[in-house]
Amino acid sequence: MMGMQAAPEQLFYDFCLEDHVPGDNLLRRIDDFLDLDDIRRELKPFYRTIGRPSVDPALMIRMLVIGYCFGIRSERRLCEEVHLNLAYRWFCRLGLDGKVPDHSTFSLNRNGRFRQSNILRHLFETVVQRCLAEGLVGGDGFAVDASLIQADANKRRSVPGDEWSVDNIRGHASKSVKDYLATLDDAAFGAASEVTPKFISPSDPAAQWTGALRGAAFFAYATNYLIDTENAIIVDVEASRAIRQAEVGAARTMIERTEERFALKPKRLAGDTAYGAAPMLAWLVKEKGIAPHIPVFDRSQRDDGTFSRATFTFDQKRNIYVCPQGKTLKTSGRIPSDNTYRYLASTHDCGPCPLKPQCCPNTPQRKIPRDINEDARDVARSLYETPAFAQSRRERKKVEMLFAHLKRILKLGRLRLRGPCGARDEFLLAATAQNLRKLAKLRPKLPPTPQPA
Ligand code: SF4
Repeated sequence: MMGMQAAPEQLFYDFCLEDHVPGDNLLRRIDDFLDLDDIRRELKPFYRTIGRPSVDPALMIRMLVIGYCFGIRSERRLCEEVHLNLAYRWFCRLGLDGKVPDHSTFSLNRNGRFRQSNILRHLFETVVQRCLAEGLVGGDGFAVDASLIQADANKRRSVPGDEWSVDNIRGHASKSVKDYLATLDDAAFGAASEVTPKFISPSDPAAQWTGALRGAAFFAYATNYLIDTENAIIVDVEASRAIRQAEVGAARTMIERTEERFALKPKRLAGDTAYGAAPMLAWLVKEKGIAPHIPVFDRSQRDDGTFSRATFTFDQKRNIYVCPQGKTLKTSGRIPSDNTYRYLASTHDCGPCPLKPQCCPNTPQRKIPRDINEDARDVARSLYETPAFAQSRRERKKVEMLFAHLKRILKLGRLRLRGPCGARDEFLLAATAQNLRKLAKLRPKLPPTPQPA
């Protein structure tokens, strides 16, 4: 016989929310690692001591953690979900009838106390600290990479870069424009490049117009991750413009900050060719003592059939290059303004040389440029064929997997917030959510075993 569900007539229930959240629920496991006592302490100076009590900041942080862990991108929807979902209510300590804050509370706090107190970075670092305490961070090998996240900026409302002027907006600037003005001298934003972008979005001028993904160009920010390769824990995250110079600057910032905050300095760093320019390699090798497992960014290869620089042998002791004919190429030794020495062969040697058509067919003598940091590039080249480098190349894929997870599962393919501060907030929360999920997966706390009566 077909059953029929009738509305129960019972008026009173004996209901315990705790009993209705399964032991293996992701939020229950995340809850074991989320300690917000510190957060309350950090935020205390930003609240007045008199007046009506505010919404509990810990409640807002818990709701934001739910939103970023489960890819709920709209704050309005997040409030509805928390209102209806028993596990969310349990995680937020709301009980069955606790009042869910209004969605407008989030933007008020985000633009106010949360930014002034830098609380989202504090939350991220608290979670990294917990990963360290749980033994999930090896500290020997790090990997760095950046991924483009579409900005909340419309191409149709953009203006050509050469028609854009900062002076036009100073008087009536929106929040994202004020953020942009505040980061003009920041190495990850305004100071990263002096090249004027092709288009600028007046509603979010810091967003970079980019065609780097080879499809249709769009406005984007870059999220930069520095991860420990043992368990793919994100040890630092940084928002930057979506250009190579800014991403390299962000990598340096993250390496220095991780050393300062957690006393963590890797023995090796894995990255792609974007990080393989001479200044970055020199900084890693000479200043930081980190082995660069990074392919060298090298434009000395020639594809017109003439000799590349690799055909010549560098004699470090004598500071000369030796050509295939055994002739020497010398430099004046003066440090040039573009940081590149030029080694020249003699016209007496090159003129009658039988290899001249393959060496310097269009010039009277051969010239070889050498960066002042070429020795650091040589260190990177010497590591390139080693098994350790091959291992790092495999481990580097873990960052790419984190970015894929970020976009597909956490649904952060497009930003909701504008400006450098908006991008920073979103990237910090997303990285916090990814680390919390990793903690919950790798260090599950088993429910207590029932004791025999
Ligand atoms: S052209 Fe000059 S530099 Fe080149 S192989 Fe001949 S002598 Fe050496």
